[in-house]
Amino acid sequence: MNQQVILEGRYLWRDAAGRVIETPEEMFWRVARAVAAAEARFGADSKTVAAWAERFFALMAALDFLPNSPTLINAGRQGGQLAACFVLPVEDSIEAIFETLKQTALIHKSGGGTGFDFSRLRPKGDPVQSTGGVASGPVSFMRIFNAATEEVKQGGVRRGANMGILRVDHPDIFGFVACKEKEGEMRNFNISVAVTEEFFGAYAADKDFPLRFGGRVYRSVPARELFDYIVAHAHATGEPGLLFLDAVNRANPTPALGRIEATNPCGEQPLLPYESCNLGSVNLAQMVKERSVDWEKLRTVVRDAVRFLDDVVEVNSFPVPAIAAATRRTRKVGLGVMGWADLLFLLRIPYDSEAALQLAAELMGFIRAEARAASRQLASERGTFPAWDKSVYYPDLPLRNATLTTIAPTGSISGIAGVSSGIEPVFALSYTRTVFDRKKLLVVNKPFLAYLAANFPEAQREAILNAVYRNGTLEGVTELPPEDRAIFKTALEIAPEWHLRMQAAFQQATDNAVSKTINLPETATQADVAAIFRAAHALGLKGLTVYRTGSRKDQPLALPANC
Ligand code: UDP
Repeated sequence: MNQQVILEGRYLWRDAAGRVIETPEEMFWRVARAVAAAEARFGADSKTVAAWAERFFALMAALDFLPNSPTLINAGRQGGQLAACFVLPVEDSIEAIFETLKQTALIHKSGGGTGFDFSRLRPKGDPVQSTGGVASGPVSFMRIFNAATEEVKQGGVRRGANMGILRVDHPDIFGFVACKEKEGEMRNFNISVAVTEEFFGAYAADKDFPLRFGGRVYRSVPARELFDYIVAHAHATGEPGLLFLDAVNRANPTPALGRIEATNPCGEQPLLPYESCNLGSVNLAQMVKERSVDWEKLRTVVRDAVRFLDDVVEVNSFPVPAIAAATRRTRKVGLGVMGWADLLFLLRIPYDSEAALQLAAELMGFIRAEARAASRQLASERGTFPAWDKSVYYPDLPLRNATLTTIAPTGSISGIAGVSSGIEPVFALSYTRTVFDRKKLLVVNKPFLAYLAANFPEAQREAILNAVYRNGTLEGVTELPPEDRAIFKTALEIAPEWHLRMQAAFQQATDNAVSKTINLPETATQADVAAIFRAAHALGLKGLTVYRTGSRKDQPLALPANC
């Protein structure tokens, strides 16, 4: 029922009069056929192509795996754009900025999200030679991108989202950190500060830190003052997040093609300028057999999913030639998971336990190993990605794709699958969800319902559920034994430290990055946020988002704004 509402809202095709013209099953066939068409380009005959279409259909229709929304929405359409993640360069000239703005609009129209590093833009007040005037700086140009996004989203398949990044050493960093201070401002952007080891070094040594541009130091500030300023804003509004630039570049599979400076809107996909990436997620809630992980099923799903995602790169229509070229050079894909919290419920493992961390590392390690095996197989059939001989994998590991794993938020597709999103703990055991700004859906966690059904007679079940409807948690529910209550904890009942450690556990075997919100109680202090930032750096994470309860009003679930 929830699935139907979500699909009707945006995914199922409609005729000119706005009437829905396909069933969910037909949608999955449309996507399966469009994606399997790639097989023909590698010499498959029509029977083989049809067999792959059937296999892809089964994968999606069983809800074992779903690709990112743009693939579900646009596959099969002439010129259909299928990827969720893009990074575009922003060079320091009016021509270049507005060219990028145009490309951004084209991407948003198709349902993709864009990330930018604005650090190449000269600081506010710098001279502009051609006009004799002064530059307005990165933040002011971000406002133009924000406004354009606002307009384009009216006509697009979903609202466009942006990630705005500025290096911690850019002279305009203070203005950037404060640019979302007022609620509603820059609302089509998530913002992240790109921090460096140099900055953390200056912070640890309590030294001054130089802000510079174009080889010139503009001024120096105490590193602690800047750090505290970032912390204060993250504490107050949830933003900015942090992007750990050096950690990201240590994991850059193709350093010869350039440094990575930005990510997509939710932070899970670091990319080179003009690269795009299509994502897909395995539904872990379905990878269970008799209270343990069904590794054989998971292996098959992962291998098929990698083939699916590589086929998507093949049949995708890219909005501009530079994006087509950059994407085809590395053929990055991002296979991740959803329903992790549900899986833990089914296995009766508390989210905040060493056992959960261990399983996370084991599971993601397995997924990456299988994904690589599949990509290696594809490389032998279709050739490696073109930049392979310039990559860190050369010469030992021939791969079809420069990256394979990414943990996406799965904000929409987890709703279609009816499971918990990404690797987040459940937000509540029951809650109402507003979709498409109108409909309200009552969602009750399925593994929790199954647990009640297996352990309590009907009358008692009713009583427990009524209590759960009231505040979404098991608070005050005495019917469950304490060891069971420990299993069904919600996001805010789990200490921030465990959120962080879970992100780190998944990051170990994730080629790209992990989308995760570190939830904090309303009472968390700035010192708490500072401690989390330091711990995230020490854990070697690639990025971080914190969200303190109540710090922003229009928060769709517990995900970063826009997603
Ligand atoms: N995204 C976007 N607009 C949205 C939601 C998502 O542009 O409203 C992009 C963005 O790059 C994000 C990525 O899609 O990081 C993946 O988000 P999610 O997993 O929530 O997407 P889904 O496939 O579930 O719709």
